[in-house]
Amino acid sequence: MAEEAGCRYIHWDVMDGHFVPNITVGIPVIASLRKKSNLIFDVHLMIEDPDKFVKPFKEAGSNIITFHIETIKNPDEIIDSIKKMGVKVGVAIIPSTPLESIYGILDKVDLVLIMTVNPGFGGQSFLPEVIPKIEKLKSIMKDRNLNFLLEVDGGINLKTVTKVLKAGANLIVAGSSIYHSKDPKETIQRYKDIFISFQAYVD
Ligand code: ZN
Repeated sequence: MAEEAGCRYIHWDVMDGHFVPNITVGIPVIASLRKKSNLIFDVHLMIEDPDKFVKPFKEAGSNIITFHIETIKNPDEIIDSIKKMGVKVGVAIIPSTPLESIYGILDKVDLVLIMTVNPGFGGQSFLPEVIPKIEKLKSIMKDRNLNFLLEVDGGINLKTVTKVLKAGANLIVAGSSIYHSKDPKETIQRYKDIFISFQAYVD
């Protein structure tokens, strides 16, 4: 469905019941959908010890693997191991984690994921207090001439999306607002129209 509806990415929220209080999909589900889809699989690991699972998630068909900075003592190691496999690497932070925690690795990652809800469940409300964090990250990206994807995840809908785009996000995760809409295809088109109108004046 996502492919026909015009999406380029499928974002997988992998939860282990430890790092977050919920369990979702894992390696077998991703591997079986890989056979059905050519979309970019953007795999967001909300799990403890993500370094132990990098290889099976790569083998399942991930194109991007994102780990949480809160789960890792030595981020350089996991970044290297993901890159060595030829997969893009992302780092994610929850709302209460300061941006400073990832300053040292911004030049090594392909994607930074800013969570705009506390992770664990879909359908939560967007936390507007995270907006300054997105703005700050965007300004660092410009100052340091970096080129990572700035992804925003949690509570995104057709209203909140404009706020995060204004703040500097360039990759948007939308779950409930699409899947729970009457016409998911039309909702995706409305998102696209908003992106296009933003690109007209965003540098
Ligand atoms: Zn996610």
